[in-house]
Amino acid sequence: MLNSLGAKHRLCYDFRHQSEPEGFFAQNWLKSSRNCVIISLTNLNLMEEVTMDNKWTELYNAAKAVQNGREISDRVWAGGVAAAIESESGKIYVGVCVDTCSTLGICAERNAIFNMITNGEHKIKRVLAIMSDGKTGAPCGACRELMTQLTPGKYHDIEIMLDYENGKIVTLGELTPEWWI
Ligand SMILES: [Zn+2]
Repeated sequence: MLNSLGAKHRLCYDFRHQSEPEGFFAQNWLKSSRNCVIISLTNLNLMEEVTMDNKWTELYNAAKAVQNGREISDRVWAGGVAAAIESESGKIYVGVCVDTCSTLGICAERNAIFNMITNGEHKIKRVLAIMSDGKTGAPCGACRELMTQLTPGKYHDIEIMLDYENGKIVTLGELTPEWWI
């Protein structure tokens, strides 16, 4: 469980409890970022964690697992960008970009969204995409548009990871404050 906290989280530690598992506190405190995991220890053997951002690590790992840029034919390239989205239920859906001639392809984000819809869901909580350079980035206008159309009036709260290394997160409402409809 401790390893699942990942390297990108800053700990908000309850100092009423002075003991912590050996090495745990020091290791994770040094790996600080803007993300925050709340830990409360009632004793050495019982740890209850309430995590706000562990899901970002899951999303990143899920996207990374399917990122595999390759040429499928002399007209089709795929997998250079990979996306993972968290739905309302907490499930993670992934997708990769498919680039073709004649605009038949799709962005990784929309591929992940279609995967979610295929599995019976349509409400998005978080979006993370790893670009071909290994960094995370914002969805294009078409992907933002699809997100707004899926949940008109409620899309503003969808969280988007802009910069995983530095924990920079924005909402779709910040990226796209005034939808055209
Ligand atoms: Zn897109």
